[in-house]
Amino acid sequence: MDKTTYNIMPVNCAPMFTIKNHLEIRNNHLFIGGADTTELAGKYGTPIYITNESRIIENFSAYRKAFPDADIYYAAKANGSFAILRMLAKEGSGADVFSYGELYMALLAGISREKILFNGNSKTDFELRKAAELGVKVSVDSRDELHTLSEIAGSLGKTVEIAFRVNPDVSPGTHPKIATGLRTSKFGIPSGEVVDIYREASGLPGVMPAGIHCHIGSQILDTAPFTEATQKMMNLVEEVTALGIDLKFVDLGSGLGIPYKKDEHAPTPADHADAILPVFQERTEELGISPKLILEPGRYIVGDTTILLTRVNTVKKAAKNFVGVDAGFNLLIRPTMYDSYHYAVVANRAASKPEEIYSIVGPICETGDVFARDRELPRIEKGDIVALLDAGAYGFSMSSQYNGRPRCAEILVKEGKSDVIRSAEDVGDLIAKQKLPARLM
Ligand SMILES: *Cc1c(COP(=O)(O)O)cnc(C)c1O
Repeated sequence: MDKTTYNIMPVNCAPMFTIKNHLEIRNNHLFIGGADTTELAGKYGTPIYITNESRIIENFSAYRKAFPDADIYYAAKANGSFAILRMLAKEGSGADVFSYGELYMALLAGISREKILFNGNSKTDFELRKAAELGVKVSVDSRDELHTLSEIAGSLGKTVEIAFRVNPDVSPGTHPKIATGLRTSKFGIPSGEVVDIYREASGLPGVMPAGIHCHIGSQILDTAPFTEATQKMMNLVEEVTALGIDLKFVDLGSGLGIPYKKDEHAPTPADHADAILPVFQERTEELGISPKLILEPGRYIVGDTTILLTRVNTVKKAAKNFVGVDAGFNLLIRPTMYDSYHYAVVANRAASKPEEIYSIVGPICETGDVFARDRELPRIEKGDIVALLDAGAYGFSMSSQYNGRPRCAEILVKEGKSDVIRSAEDVGDLIAKQKLPARLM
């Protein structure tokens, strides 16, 4: 019991202590952004996502501080909630978008079109046309796409600034489903073909090769792969520059991991900068060029800012102690999809002593609907509130209505005040877009 990760304090005498990053415990309750999570659960119902606005700004500022001369293009897919895009737009962030939907939202949020890169390995003609019309940069992922974009932009009388997404063949040592720069991954142009495709592009109408791009994966906890990718990319920059192409930007993606487990070590943006900047600066100086460095963090900016609050429906002693909660993997799929770990806190008994080993499971009709396995936690009863931490990246943005479950609300807190930034869906949203053929009326 003594080596528990919880500090044991008598209830009602601890004014406050930090549990993980910006999260605090006061009077045995978990607080986020100065707000009592149990009050938020009562006020808005459960399940709910709760995001601490100040933490997003802190994380974004940490990146900007580590890379003062770079542009930060927030990866919108990590969390595409409009309030969050808006907040980052006001901070001067750009956006890495992967669909017309994300492009639309980023522009609507006020992110300037000069700071948007449209990524994707399989864009539709419609998406390429929108990118050309709206004047954003495009990261081209194949020769086929290069020609399609050239025709579309040419026919609109536009010239689109392009980068090529390079597959640098670097192993980031992360979960195989989120390693994106392996030789066999679906993303990017094989390194060996990169120079040829720049040569080809420079002769085509409608497109102007202006940058180069890679992104090697996500939740990367070791900085060596970033250095390796930077070296490989700078070799290509040298070759492309030798063709007479003026590269205005070098986009090295991101993928910086965060510590999901309490004492897990994760590099910081400063470590990320140490892994990249010396190589980038040395090589650009050697070549006498001054391209803009772009980074595309997603998870780091939003991951630890948000919790998923869920209420206990039932506790069952079987082969294990199962705690059945009211959120399922339709709201947070990472544990099911990537075997990922989320720290669990009993929000209304946050400083109490751990007493039992519990597995926290959702209500979905799938064995894999498990949020947390075999955790030592304070005694849990029906009605208690469980907070799953670090749910801000690839949480709500990957949600679905699976099993007839409407998506939940999202709340933004700042200095103790809370606002709904997305209302919960209801059953009307399950039927909203469906239609019956007349014969079934
Ligand atoms: C997903 C993605 C990112 C962001 O990755 P994180 O691990 O969330 O930092 C950046 N760039 C591209 C191209 C991506 O696909």
